[in-house]
Amino acid sequence: MIRELHEKLINREITSAHLTQQYFDAIEKKDGEIGAYLTLTKELAFAQAKLVDEKIARGEAIDLLEGIPFAVKDNICVDGIRTTAASKILDNYVAPYDATVIRKLKEKGAIILGKTNMDQFAMGSSTESSAYQKTKNPVDTERVPGGSSGGSVAAVAAGEAVWSLGTDTGGSIRQPAAFCGVVGLKPTYGRVSRSGAIAMASSLDQIGPIANSVEDAAIILSAISGEDILDATSAQSSDKKFEDYLTGDISGKVIGVPKEYVESLEGEIKNVFEKSLEKFKALGAKIETISLPHSSYALPVYYILMTSEVSSNLAKFDGIKYGLRADDTKKLLETYLDTRKIGFGEEVKRRIMLGTYALSAGYYDAYYLKAQKVRALIRKDFEQAFEKVDFVYSPTTPEVAFKFGEKTEDPLKMYLSDIYTITANLAGVPAISFPIGSVDTEGKALPVGGQLMGKWFDEEGMLNAAHSFEKAK
Ligand code: GLN
Repeated sequence: MIRELHEKLINREITSAHLTQQYFDAIEKKDGEIGAYLTLTKELAFAQAKLVDEKIARGEAIDLLEGIPFAVKDNICVDGIRTTAASKILDNYVAPYDATVIRKLKEKGAIILGKTNMDQFAMGSSTESSAYQKTKNPVDTERVPGGSSGGSVAAVAAGEAVWSLGTDTGGSIRQPAAFCGVVGLKPTYGRVSRSGAIAMASSLDQIGPIANSVEDAAIILSAISGEDILDATSAQSSDKKFEDYLTGDISGKVIGVPKEYVESLEGEIKNVFEKSLEKFKALGAKIETISLPHSSYALPVYYILMTSEVSSNLAKFDGIKYGLRADDTKKLLETYLDTRKIGFGEEVKRRIMLGTYALSAGYYDAYYLKAQKVRALIRKDFEQAFEKVDFVYSPTTPEVAFKFGEKTEDPLKMYLSDIYTITANLAGVPAISFPIGSVDTEGKALPVGGQLMGKWFDEEGMLNAAHSFEKAK
């Protein structure tokens, strides 16, 4: 889609201003129902579009993303724009700088339409923990779009943005992409700078693209990746044009299917997944059953390490440094406590408490340290698997999009949505979710996502495998 729009722009069939207007019209028409956006950035968008149109008029070459409108998850800072992470505690926070990814995209002339709804501080799998609004799944508006990047994904799926940025700590790009039938990519840890993304769990977080096709995701990744002096964990990876690696040929590649993931698969999702394996075989790939023996520990390890990092990262929201400050307090401690009490949502408080507990003296060794050790074993599972196979493949989620309220009563049920996605964050490997079929439920064809995980820094191979699948449709 990006390439087609790019062609239209350079052939002067459309202008960037016109294209931008089209997307704001779509938002106007649909977003009352969908609820993808929290803030629109019209002024910024049209100012950017004007510059691109002038450049085209002067006959200058433009970048692939130049002049094309996209949406940004509301935990990524855009200079001068309200950035809430969908929490009341940042209700009035205006970012004083651009996240590195935004700086790069602005330099490339990509047009920012607005900021999208999400689970509060990216904690959740349904976008229901936003302090502001519900976001509906455009495929079936009785269902959640997934989360936490639900707004970013719904915007793309509903045609309210050409593409968008999300963040993924345990599956927040891939799970909603699977639920809404679009492509979502979590890069290798370190591939994309995290500077300017409001941290949830710093050793797991990555920013990544949500798009209509694998090629679009590759184009976006090329634009946002690279080493960054502002993020000490960003990797010294050389700049690549990932889109140039999409040959559509995966013959001879070996795809490993972890038995621990598929053993418990049931019903229609299982059929869709098995059909997708046949399709990979028809493309000349070899399918092998593999084992990731520590998979059953992934969820507990994630919920100890993630909450520990959350408790530390969110300590800075105290009513003094950023955002909201509780009124009517007389003492400093009261200000801290009251601000956090009224500012944070329930799920955020739950995680801060869990993490504080896991890190406290006497429990640190038993929980945090132990979880770190098991994390190393999970990573080793992948090292061993990748000695034998090129990719690890499974469904993205064990089930299709669920209905509002179905899992909000029981946090553990919600946490299980990420059972197949969190290992990629724990191991740091790249992973992509892409549509592989659908399951008919109550008269709607609900999308199913397939997830490919690749070797560290082999986004190009992984993208090519997903692209080959997509093209063979
Ligand atoms: N749904 C997961 C959680 O609630 C993942 C969140 C994320 O990736 N940001 O923690």
